[in-house]
Amino acid sequence: MALVNEHYLKLKAGYLFPEIARRVQAFTKANPGAEIIRLGIGDVTQPLPPAVIKSLHLAADEMARPETFRGYGPEQGYQFLLDLIIANDYEARGVNLESDEIFVSDGSKCDSGNIQEIFAVDNLIAVADPAYPVYVDTNVMAGRTGKADDKGRYHGLYYMPCTEANDFLPELPSRKVDIIYLCFPNNPTGVVARREVLQTWVDYARQNQAVILFDAAYEAYITDEQIPHSIYEIQGAKECAIEFRSFSKTAGFTGTRCAYTVVPKGLMASTTSGEAVSLNKLWNRRHTTKFNGVSYPVQVAAAAVYSDEGKAQVRNLIDYYMENARIIRQTLSALGFTVYGGRNAPYIWMKTSDGMSSWEFFDHLLANAHVVGTPGSGFGPSGEGYFRLSAFGTREKTEEAVERIRDRISP
Ligand SMILES: *Cc1c(COP(=O)(O)O)cnc(C)c1O
Repeated sequence: MALVNEHYLKLKAGYLFPEIARRVQAFTKANPGAEIIRLGIGDVTQPLPPAVIKSLHLAADEMARPETFRGYGPEQGYQFLLDLIIANDYEARGVNLESDEIFVSDGSKCDSGNIQEIFAVDNLIAVADPAYPVYVDTNVMAGRTGKADDKGRYHGLYYMPCTEANDFLPELPSRKVDIIYLCFPNNPTGVVARREVLQTWVDYARQNQAVILFDAAYEAYITDEQIPHSIYEIQGAKECAIEFRSFSKTAGFTGTRCAYTVVPKGLMASTTSGEAVSLNKLWNRRHTTKFNGVSYPVQVAAAAVYSDEGKAQVRNLIDYYMENARIIRQTLSALGFTVYGGRNAPYIWMKTSDGMSSWEFFDHLLANAHVVGTPGSGFGPSGEGYFRLSAFGTREKTEEAVERIRDRISP
């Protein structure tokens, strides 16, 4: 019989969101009349901006004519999109990149999950706790960990607890680690990192020849001028960091699929015999071997995000969600709940009532307010006792959800 990859068997039972879906389904079955408001999964609700839709239509029509039809494109992305990314996302912030340092893809989930493939199995991996589950699970699948303990911590990973005590900012590792996952603005805590904080990480990585994997999926939600949008705004980052960006949360592309990853050409890692190897070359090899490019209409649609119209419409989208975040944060905090995040990020990280566990609070909120959120413990053991609410709902539903919480849940 064929043998399975047994590392998969170490993964904890359900990925977080299927378990939420299961509990919601069981609840609706038992309470058919209940109107559920979902502030759980991190998906957007507003349609794509009109400028994006217009481009998507035009590009679809191009595919219908022999003169403008396109087959396979460059795996790394069309030049027109790479140029817009460089000019708008980087040059505008004083960062110079070349187009062969950017790899357009169908999502940051895949990229942040696949990137570990170009690194050896015996690297020590540092992850924030709590964190986006993809970072941990993909390293488990690859065999970089042992089994999980009863708290859900995998043996062999270096966890960086993010708690009230450290303002939810990971602390520099007390031992030498090789690869560090950072995500700012953070999912799930909604916390952002100032320039000085990022500089300490870049300095650590350079001193320890470590690589930072920087997930900037929520950079568009930053409104505070002092907060960097890219790790490359930090001196020295091009020698130690890979950055993930996505159109998903920025422009509503969660169902359309477009993202990109930056791997600077000056970024090196080592063979066991000490020879320096370019990570850009390895990622290029991986990307062109296993990926055949994002569809032409979707890349044209992504390019429209950078037009004047597109920028204004995206700004409106983000303002809309950030107003939801303000409503959730201010109302809950006025009611006496302890809340974090929700500024420069679309997530509110709240403490559960009465010292309930995250899942107890999930069930309590579902049963009494018919509101679905995300249990903090699903993002890592240090998330226990916390709960994530997302600002991605509609205004109406968001307002109704906080009213129900006000009337039916005590802090
Ligand atoms: C939503 C999200 C992404 C983006 O995923 P896509 O695959 O591009 O839709 C990446 N990282 C984090 C932390 C996210 O929450």
